[in-house]
Amino acid sequence: MTAVIESEEHKALRSAVAALGKRYGRDYVTRTVAEGKPPAELWSDAGKLGYLGVNLPEEYGGGGGGITELSIVLEELGAAGSPLLMLVVSPAICGTVIARFGTEEQKRQWLPGLADGTRLMAFGITEPDAGSNSHRITTTARRDGTDWLLTGRKVFISGVDIADAVLVVGRTEDARTGTLKPCLFIVPTDAEGFGKHPIAMELNAAEKQFELTLDDVRLPAEALVGDEDAGLLQLFAGLNPERIMTAAFAIGMGRYALARAVEYARERTVWKAPIGAHQAIAHPLAQAHIDLELARLMMRKAALLYDSGDDIGAGEAANMAKYAAGEACVRAVDQAVHTLGGNGLTREFGLASLITAARVARIAPVSREMILNYVSHQSLGLPKSY
Ligand SMILES: Cc1cc2nc3c(=O)[nH]c(=O)nc-3n(C[C@H](O)[C@H](O)[C@H](O)COP(=O)(O)OP(=O)(O)OC[C@H]3O[C@@H](n4cnc5c(N)ncnc54)[C@H](O)[C@@H]3O)c2cc1C
Repeated sequence: MTAVIESEEHKALRSAVAALGKRYGRDYVTRTVAEGKPPAELWSDAGKLGYLGVNLPEEYGGGGGGITELSIVLEELGAAGSPLLMLVVSPAICGTVIARFGTEEQKRQWLPGLADGTRLMAFGITEPDAGSNSHRITTTARRDGTDWLLTGRKVFISGVDIADAVLVVGRTEDARTGTLKPCLFIVPTDAEGFGKHPIAMELNAAEKQFELTLDDVRLPAEALVGDEDAGLLQLFAGLNPERIMTAAFAIGMGRYALARAVEYARERTVWKAPIGAHQAIAHPLAQAHIDLELARLMMRKAALLYDSGDDIGAGEAANMAKYAAGEACVRAVDQAVHTLGGNGLTREFGLASLITAARVARIAPVSREMILNYVSHQSLGLPKSY
């Protein structure tokens, strides 16, 4: 029997998504960025084809698959040059958390829309004064009768302008300090006291980042997702998919850049043979390919563990996959730009702008250093420095 790395169903999904990506491609992203618009047409088409909700339960309009399938969707769209960043957030984090821990009412209210793409949810955990140290977040919910009043600030929150709501990570008033005891609230973007302020980013991406101000935002009791006391478990249920999906985002982008470089290196001739015949050009491209493939393997392992319900095992693998994919992406993009010589920096060839975009996978949602910290402490048992 031959070992199966990827099932026939997964291969079919991969090639169908790749075909959709090809219909849009890099030109579509370049156009939407120039017009300052979100990638609404691609999002809507992907939704109609069932790709946005492949991981969500069938009874709520999803495809009944897992993060394995959703990561295939994002990787292939990225490899075609047209990634959808909000896949990392809306179905992967928010959809997962609601599907696993939401009430029946929350599931019915949100999952069908998240699955077909007619509704979109952003995710807000990062705060200006906490950054990588989530234990320091201060967004606080206090009770007012049966309602909650939520106050705080968030930063770098993606896609708030196109979102119907933000899944906000806060803490309750009686757990305001100390080790994070998070609670998650669904906050509508049109709620009174909810402010969003775009952050000027040097990223050529259709999705924008925002600073959020939450000023006594009144929320009904039903806005709380799951259990006030099991918030950490719920949060981690969303963060592992986020890491796996960021790996898919990075691998897709790396594959896109590498493919452009290989095409160019096959054609461009300045001596007797195409530049791809020079090992100084060929070997770094081969290394980039190997690094991306290895990262992909770890991503697959993480997705497999997560989809089989092993949250703990998936945690280490998801961190490693995100790390490996981020690094592989940064190196692949850098080498691709270099392969094109001067053309690597032209707008026409469109690779230079990926240099900043690739860095996102190194810093978000958890930085390279924080993953190295995790592996040092959790995997290797080394002492903690902070
Ligand atoms: C494009 C983009 C989109 C984003 N989208 C979202 C979103 O939708 N929702 C959301 O909640 N957040 C989002 N983020 C935020 C992102 O998750 C944070 O930027 C990230 O967690 C790092 O936090 P920070 O920027 O505050 O960096 P800091 O925590 O200030 O870290 C700065 C540097 O110090 C290093 N460092 C910090 N602590 C340590 C330590 N103990 N040991 C070694 N090094 C350390 C870090 O590795 C980093 O290099 C987004 C960010 C970007 C860039």
